[in-house]
Amino acid sequence: MHNSADAHPVYSDAVAVVRALKPDEPVILNRPHAATRAARFFIEKFPGKSLYAVKANPSPDLLRTLWDAGLTHYDVASIAEVRLVRATLPDATLCFMHPIKAPGAIREAYFKHGVRTFSLDSHEELAKIVDACRDEEGNPAQDLRLCVRLRVSSEHAALSLAAKFGCDLTEAPALLQDARQHADWLGVCFHVGSQAMSPFAFVQALDRTRAAIAEASVVIDMIDVGGGFPSVYPGMEPPPLEDYFQIIHQHFYALPIAYNAELWCEPGRALSAEYSSLIVKVEKRRGAELYINDGAYGALFDAAHVDWKFPVRALEDDLIKPPMDFAFYGPTCDDADYMPGPFALPEDMQAGDYIEIGMLGAYGAVMKTSFNGFDAALSVTVTDEPMDSLYRGDRARPESDNVVNLW
Ligand SMILES: *Cc1c(COP(=O)(O)O)cnc(C)c1O
Repeated sequence: MHNSADAHPVYSDAVAVVRALKPDEPVILNRPHAATRAARFFIEKFPGKSLYAVKANPSPDLLRTLWDAGLTHYDVASIAEVRLVRATLPDATLCFMHPIKAPGAIREAYFKHGVRTFSLDSHEELAKIVDACRDEEGNPAQDLRLCVRLRVSSEHAALSLAAKFGCDLTEAPALLQDARQHADWLGVCFHVGSQAMSPFAFVQALDRTRAAIAEASVVIDMIDVGGGFPSVYPGMEPPPLEDYFQIIHQHFYALPIAYNAELWCEPGRALSAEYSSLIVKVEKRRGAELYINDGAYGALFDAAHVDWKFPVRALEDDLIKPPMDFAFYGPTCDDADYMPGPFALPEDMQAGDYIEIGMLGAYGAVMKTSFNGFDAALSVTVTDEPMDSLYRGDRARPESDNVVNLW
């Protein structure tokens, strides 16, 4: 059996890590129990099948944790992710959901790794998939499971995915009809943008899906509502995920699709955000700016590039002053390595102190590059609670949120 805790030393929390290691490099703290809880939540409460979108955090330890929690399907975006997940989880079902793929990647995925589900948003990509999966005699594959990606609005999301992929409503009916000719099983997928702060995002997307299907009049076997399920960050407190699930379920049932059609979702962020936090060390202080040893080219990519806020806490117990707002500089030699925050930390923070930065399991730990040589990071397992959680059951429904009454 897998025992992901074996690979890394286990500590109770970030303070224990600092006491034991006095680390000069950033340390990634992983919480398998938090990922397990998120996976169980989706498996038990989402009214369909949940796939994990591997790109949010492809750590093999996390993949094994999710598998052990019961997640069997994985959304992969590149041939490298196909190989990684296949090597880590030999029995997992892989779905290649990037709408633009290299022919060699499709071929290897289909023939070597047993991938049958592919997404597409154009006639060119459809032809590419059909050709790449022909057998030696040139016969087309009979078992392709194809998903047509629709372009939908990202207006409710913190990060847009609307510009790049997806076919327009005017092109969708013809593409669905064409794909149906080559597919053993045909789905429609979309992505409402990452960190969708309102369930209404999914209502709009499902309305668009309905229009495309009605116009195409083809049999649809699956609806994949994609990712976009939020996590919780400072200043971004989403409504409960149950509200998203309920509204998706309701609108899924109103679609003109096969009576046994499946409902899928592909969360990345929601399954992985609580998995990791990061310990950084303050190398220098200049007024309200702390120079830390991770940054824009490390796990704090979003903090620098899209001003994302992450929760922070000081790990020293001799800091006694009230909090003030700090900004962070990362370790590389350019001004862009700057995280404006603000990050509230004790006024008496100084060089040599340690900080824990939370909620970095999604699009955090995975973003580390080796730019300027700052790529070292130890990974350890910790057993305490993540700095925030959507799954602990103690998160009250925000009072101002009447989102379920909007329609
Ligand atoms: C990135 C991505 C996801 C995951 O999105 P989150 O916002 O992290 O939930 C799911 N599906 C596709 C096709 C993606 O590109």
